[in-house]
Order: sequence, then structure tokens, then C-alpha cells
Amino acid sequence: MVPPVLPSDWYQLPPSLPEWSEERWLERGYSYYQQIQPLIPYRHLRFDIDSAIWRRRLVWIGQNIHRLNQRLWELTQSCFDCFLTTCPPIRPWAFPLGLVLQPDLKLAGLCNLDISPIALIIDVGQISPEDWLRVVVHEFAHAVSGAGHGPDFQSALTHLCIGLGFPPPVTLSNAQGLRQWPPYRPSRQTTFWSGEPTYGSSNLII
Ligand SMILES: [Zn+2]
Repeated sequence: MVPPVLPSDWYQLPPSLPEWSEERWLERGYSYYQQIQPLIPYRHLRFDIDSAIWRRRLVWIGQNIHRLNQRLWELTQSCFDCFLTTCPPIRPWAFPLGLVLQPDLKLAGLCNLDISPIALIIDVGQISPEDWLRVVVHEFAHAVSGAGHGPDFQSALTHLCIGLGFPPPVTLSNAQGLRQWPPYRPSRQTTFWSGEPTYGSSNLII
């Protein structure tokens, strides 16, 4: 695969990794949170910088976000490779969506079409690592077809599923079915974003 053009520091390690204090990692994690938050088209995010659990999450995000984003970028690149024509600029970002949004939204990913590059926000903590590409595929289909789950979306999603080896959604005749395609295996977001192993050594693939 051609090495991706790294769009920002959030896709690569800071140079002084071993010498950073926990407080500095926390600042890096919080800086990431602040930069991604405006990309999320929802208000009233559940977030408390003063809570111990969020501080732990932010330290872990500061230490690991480049690995998550780098992996998402590779998966996004495989979606770009399915199209012969030029796609709009699209950037994936890992973010604990499920921990900041109201639980009833149940979103593992979203596509913000109102900004450029188009932002794919993926809560990798909610998705079994083997299935991250499935959620990237769904959001990428939105990025090239627009909002909603109509015929244009189904066409883009079918194209991506065939190209990447997933069953195409040919039997799904309603938007509700397309909304959840391709299906993915869930994971435990609370342990993931705190840096606790949730699936043994498979965590290392990220
Ligand atoms: Zn959708």
C-alpha cells in the first residue's frame, strides 16, 4: 500500500514519546478531544474533565490516538481504492462517540458532510477490531453519496461491499436495514477507552 499522506500530528507519534509525563499525555488527549468535538454535529456532549475516569481516558487517548487514526486511515484508503473516480477529501478520526453522546443514539460512527475534508468519526471502542472496516465502509458510503439511506447510499454501499469482500445489501429493501449494514460485532467501549485489554492480545492489532 502506498504510505498515506499524514494530515496531522494525530496520525503519528510525537518525537519525544518516552519522556512525556502523564500530565503531558493528558494535555495531548484533551487537545485531541477539543479539536474533534466541533466535528460532531451534536450538542450537550457528556464529558467531565475533572472526573478520574475521563482523565484516565484522555491520558490513554494522548498516548494511543495516532495508532488508532493511522489504522483508520489505512482502512479508509482501501475504500478510496474501490473508486476509479476521484472521491472528495475524507479523513477518519477515532473518538469515543458512545461515551459522549446520549446512550439512546447508539452511534458507533458518523459522517460529517458539512466540513472539508469530510470527517468520519468512528468509535473504535464499540467495534470488535476485526470489524472496524465495516463501520468505515458504511460511513465512507455516506461521504460519497450524501446523508440518508436512500438509493444513492445503497448504490455506494453496494459498490464498497463488493470491492472489499462484504455481502452487498441486495436483500435490504428499507432504510432501517441499510442503516445497520454491514453488521459488525460490538466491543466494550468503557474498557477500550481506558486502555484495559478487552479482547486479549487482539488489542495489539490496532
Ligand atoms: Zn448510515
